[in-house]
Amino acid sequence: AKTDGKSTWRCYQDEMHEAMLSRLEMRSALVEAVPGDQMRLRFQPIVDLPTGSVIGLEALVRWQHPARGLLGPNEFIELSEENGSVVAIGGWVLREALLTFVGWHESPIGHRLRYVSVNVSARQFRTPGFVDQVRDVLQETGARPEWLLLEITESLVLHDAEQVWQDLRELRAMGVRIAIDDFGTGYSSLSYLSQMPVDVLKIDKSFIDDILHSGQQMALVETIVSLARTLDLDVVAEGIELDGHRQALVDMGCPYGQGYLFSRPATVDEIGQWLVAYPA
Ligand code: C2E
Ligand code: CA
Ligand code: CA
Ligand code: CA
Repeated sequence: AKTDGKSTWRCYQDEMHEAMLSRLEMRSALVEAVPGDQMRLRFQPIVDLPTGSVIGLEALVRWQHPARGLLGPNEFIELSEENGSVVAIGGWVLREALLTFVGWHESPIGHRLRYVSVNVSARQFRTPGFVDQVRDVLQETGARPEWLLLEITESLVLHDAEQVWQDLRELRAMGVRIAIDDFGTGYSSLSYLSQMPVDVLKIDKSFIDDILHSGQQMALVETIVSLARTLDLDVVAEGIELDGHRQALVDMGCPYGQGYLFSRPATVDEIGQWLVAYPA
């Protein structure tokens, strides 16, 4: 038993060591990711729930790591926030998403798309010159500001309010729309929310998961939807996996949604095929 304990411990130490090395390796590799052309985008359709028509796409980043394969954002975005590489990655995502969207918008199948949604990390948003960067990229890609929805987090709007709010107002004055992502997982107060310079609330998947089994969750989502209506904000429910979810959301008057029920995040080519096959 003694030796067992010892080898378990050594094994644990090895794992810790491995995890540390891996984080160190990932950090330095992340800096090379954009110059090395290793970032990729996937797109997930956003639909008008009552009619089923596709109205937009959310761009979701992936990292084609030279040794580890295709990594999802949960495996590297936090690290990239820590070492600052998220600024380069986010800049790449913005440009690539708009370039792709402009291409679709000019094609007959993509013409019904109204906008592309792009996630912006807090650190990226706070980097001086972010608003100018958005303006420049719009001009360079030929995208209209109305075609861009920027998704930010609740905490960004709560902290650091002065400069952030000013930047948000400037973006909205340009015609760019702003969404609060993962709404409900942070700590927005009601009085704050009514003044925030934003256009859209995205209800986090964790709220949608249980609506069919919990009357309480259902009531909570209904409350968010009616709150949004009161404040004249659009609402997008994320993580719709079942037709029951969709039906329940339609019944409570939630206008928009996205989730595996409609499509998983997909490559440009796959989305092209999906759009051809998708009736609405
Ligand atoms: P998010 O913005 O909340 O994006 C939605 C996530 O839920 C995506 O995961 C998407 O693939 C997943 N999802 C969508 N529908 C369903 C569904 O029906 N069921 C399930 N189980 N999952 C669904 P993904 O692509 O792994 O992205 C994770 C998070 O990484 C995103 O959460 C977002 O916060 C962040 N992220 C993604 N792309 C970027 C980016 O370009 N920049 C920054 N800063 N963050 C990003
Ligand atoms: Ca998002
Ligand atoms: Ca979200
Ligand atoms: Ca989420």
